Amino acid sequence: LSNQLVQANKVQALGQLASGIAHDFNNILQAVEGAATLIERRPEHHDKVRRLARMVVDATARGGSITQRLLSFARRGEFHPEPLPTADLLANIREVLAHTLGASIVVQSTMPPGVPPVLADRGQLETVLVNLGTNARDAMPEGGTLTLSADVEFVAADDHRPAGLASGAYVRLSVTDTGTGMDAATLARAAELFFTTKPLGQGTGLGLAMVKAFAEQSGGAMAIASTPSEGTTVTLRLRQATEGTTPPDGEADSHGDTID
Ligand code: ADP
Repeated sequence: LSNQLVQANKVQALGQLASGIAHDFNNILQAVEGAATLIERRPEHHDKVRRLARMVVDATARGGSITQRLLSFARRGEFHPEPLPTADLLANIREVLAHTLGASIVVQSTMPPGVPPVLADRGQLETVLVNLGTNARDAMPEGGTLTLSADVEFVAADDHRPAGLASGAYVRLSVTDTGTGMDAATLARAAELFFTTKPLGQGTGLGLAMVKAFAEQSGGAMAIASTPSEGTTVTLRLRQATEGTTPPDGEADSHGDTID
């Protein structure tokens, strides 16, 4: 667990550093944008100059949106873990993704009965799952299927434990797509901060780093499995909010009890 905390603290420190840089950078971008806008609007300037000034304005807008995302990543804010009924969570995310990902992507969810609530910050978990959904969409330009799934896993102390995970009961939440998948080199770096294979202005490399930081801060872990041209599964292991197992219909009344 201590290694996990060190990692989470590193991400947090990096987040703070990045947020300071992003803030200063944003001010600079605004100055550049202002000057370029003035140049563009001067009728006495040559057309070519004004076109170039327009390009500068557009580039600063793209830069601005990246620093904006960086700031919102760094300022994820307070962490308020609470028990979240897993079935409701999946149903909500499924609905959101079905509406946002476009008609060419089928969104489905699967969960056995009796999965207990997870202990996590609601807003952040929702953001993370939607993030995974948009990554899945980007990997399926020709359409495909996105599957949200949940189940329970007991990680034993002597087991082949996923890196950094303490023993105990976890809820596993997975997002699976039937997209392009990742080659070994991409997979190895996918969760690095700022690593992206997407074109400038589309990718920031913040998504999976944020998902990983979230999972670890929640006392869990993130894992990625991917096969080129078959698809990708991102799995979050999150702490279960109640001790032991709950009956199939027990989600609604399970609040408060936490495991350590
Ligand atoms: P971004 O989406 O801005 O690139 P991420 O951290 O979310 O940042 O992802 C990093 C990289 O990992 C992506 O650029 C892509 O190459 C790869 N990746 C992430 N999710 C998937 C996925 N579901 N399928 C294929 N590749 C993915």
